[in-house]
Formats: sequence, structure tokens, C-alpha cells
Amino acid sequence: MSDLSDLYQEVILDHNRRPRHFGVLAGANRTAKGHNPLCGDKLVVYLKIDAGRITGVSFEGSGCAISKASASLMTDAIDGHSVAEVTAMFDRFRAMVTSPHDRPIDQDALGKLAVLAGVREFPVRVKCASLAWHTLKAALEDVPTPVKTE
Ligand code: ZN
Repeated sequence: MSDLSDLYQEVILDHNRRPRHFGVLAGANRTAKGHNPLCGDKLVVYLKIDAGRITGVSFEGSGCAISKASASLMTDAIDGHSVAEVTAMFDRFRAMVTSPHDRPIDQDALGKLAVLAGVREFPVRVKCASLAWHTLKAALEDVPTPVKTE
């Protein structure tokens, strides 16, 4: 199990150091801001949605390693998928991070997002990991006010 944790840790550190899809997205037609006051994480999610499909995604902002890695992993996961698929991913991710930390996770369904399962042991970190997803949801639903995790 510790080998697996090390691997997860490595993926998180890598995404924190070299976040994917980082920066403003040219031609974005949806955007939302998220803020996690508990930790100070702030980010903006940009989406380009075309005929019910995510054809472009990016994020920018500043925050802790978990919030940044989670946003980076999220952009990788959702790029090219339909809005319905992304909504299902949101539900799976939320179910994972809010489940008891000793409950096995569905690695096949979650894919790389499973690396964040470790946050379940640290309730404060759950908000860091969830921020990108809640901000994404707001962008999908075109909610104009900034999202807060509190
Ligand atoms: Zn944080």
C-alpha cells in the first residue's frame, strides 16, 4: 500500500510542478472563479463548450499543491468529453473524496483521479481537492457568482 501511496504522491507533485492546461483559454465561452478561504486557494476555470462537448479547458490561479494538482488532473480528465460525461465524473470524484478513507475506491472508474483518494484522511484537504471541480460545475451551469467552498 505504501508503494501505491508513493506513486500517488509522485503524480500529485508532478502535476503541481508542471500543471497541464495552465493559463487563459483563448475562445473560452464559459468561465468561473473558485475560492477556498480555508486554505487560500483561488482559481479560474475556462471552458470551451461546443455542441455539448468540452473542446477546450484551462485553469489559472494560485494555491496549495493539492488544489493545483487536482485542477491539472481535472483538465486532463475532462478534455474532449461530453458535458454529460463530465457531470458523471464530477459525481464520481465527489463521492470518492467524501467517502470514508478506508473504503476501497473504484480505480477503473476514476482513472488518474484516484491519486487524490488520500485527501480523505485530511478533511481540510478535501476542500482543496474539490475546489477545481466545484468551479468547473459552476462554469458548466454558467453560475455568475464566484464559488466558495465555505
Ligand atoms: Zn489548498
